[in-house]
Amino acid sequence: MPQIITEQNLRNLIDLLVKEAKLVVGPKLSGSVVLYEPLTAGSDLTLDALPRRSSKELFFPICEDILSYKRENGAMKVNDVDRSKFPETVLIGAPPCDAGSPAILDAVMSWDYKDEFYLERRRKSTIVGIACTKGDDACFCRAVGLAPDAEAGSDLFLTPLKDGSYACKAVTEKGQALVAAHKNLFAEGAGAEPVAFVDQAVEKLDLVKIKKWLEDHFEDPLWEKIADICVGCGACAFICPACHCFDINDEGSTDDGVRRKHWDACGFAKFTNHASGHNPRDVQNKRYRNRIMHKFKYYDDKFGKTLCTGCGRCIRACPVGIDIAEILETINTKHD
Ligand code: SF4
Ligand code: SF4
Repeated sequence: MPQIITEQNLRNLIDLLVKEAKLVVGPKLSGSVVLYEPLTAGSDLTLDALPRRSSKELFFPICEDILSYKRENGAMKVNDVDRSKFPETVLIGAPPCDAGSPAILDAVMSWDYKDEFYLERRRKSTIVGIACTKGDDACFCRAVGLAPDAEAGSDLFLTPLKDGSYACKAVTEKGQALVAAHKNLFAEGAGAEPVAFVDQAVEKLDLVKIKKWLEDHFEDPLWEKIADICVGCGACAFICPACHCFDINDEGSTDDGVRRKHWDACGFAKFTNHASGHNPRDVQNKRYRNRIMHKFKYYDDKFGKTLCTGCGRCIRACPVGIDIAEILETINTKHD
C-alpha cells in the first residue's frame, strides 16, 4: 500500500530526527541563496529551489583532516581522525540530480583504494530524495539517463502531491527503517495527483554515441573552439555533485601539523603539473577536454556509469558561459 506524509509531518519528522541527535541536512535559505545546511528544526527546510551547491560535500567535504602529527621527545606521534565519531546523518529533500550522486561516486570511492572517510559517512547516512518540480533551463537530467522522478541513490523517495503532501516510497532497507521508526507520521493511501515535473529543453542524448566520438576525437578542433575561453576557475568542478578530485597536503611544520584532504579540479592550470615543470595539459582546452572525457568516457570505461547527473549547476556557475549540455548536443549530432 502506498504511503503519504503531510508537509507538516515531514517537518515534524525533521524535528524528531534532530531530537534523536542525528545530523539532519537539507535545503535551507542561507542569506539570499538556498544551500544544503544542517537543519535545527523542520521549519528550516526550504523546498522552493535547487540548492546552489550540491549535497556531495556531506559525504566528501571540501576540506577535511585525515590525521595530525607531532614530534614528542624525538619520536613522531601520529593521531588518526576517529571516524567512529562521524554522526548518523539524514539528508532530506535532495532532488534526483543530488540524491543520485552517491550512487555514482560509491564506485570510485570503494574501488582499489577504499576511501574510509567517504564510506563511513555513506554507511551512516540515509537519503530522503524528492521528485523535482523546480527545474530551470539549465537542467538536463533526462538527457543523461536520470529523470525528475528517478529514485537512484534515495533510500526513501518523496513525490510532491497537489494538496501539499508527499507520496513516499521506501526504496531501500534504510528507507523502510526510517518509516518504521516514525510510522505515526505516515498514512496509508494513494493521496492526491502528483505535481507536474518541469519540461527540459534538451533531448535525451545518445551517451554511447557520444562516448564513441570521444574515443575517436582526442585531438579535434572542437576542443579549441569550445574551451579556449575557459578561465580555469574550477567552479564547474566544485559545484558539481559528481566531480571528486582531491589533493592531500601536510599543513604545519615538519614537527607539528595536520594532513588534510582538499578538493581539486582538473580545470586548474597546475592540476597535472609535474615536479619537472612539464605539464601535459599545458593549455586550457586540454584541461576542459579532460573534464568531458572523464565524465563521458573514462568513468564509463571503468565503472559503467556517466559522471554527470545533468543538474545544470556548471552551466549556471560558469563565468564565461560554457554550457556542457550544448557541447554534448553538438557531439551528439556529429557523424564521424
Ligand atoms: S557536469 Fe555539470 S551538469 Fe553534470 S553533474 Fe556536474 S555540475 Fe551537474
Ligand atoms: S566554470 Fe567555466 S571557466 Fe570555470 S573552469 Fe569550469 S568551464 Fe572553465
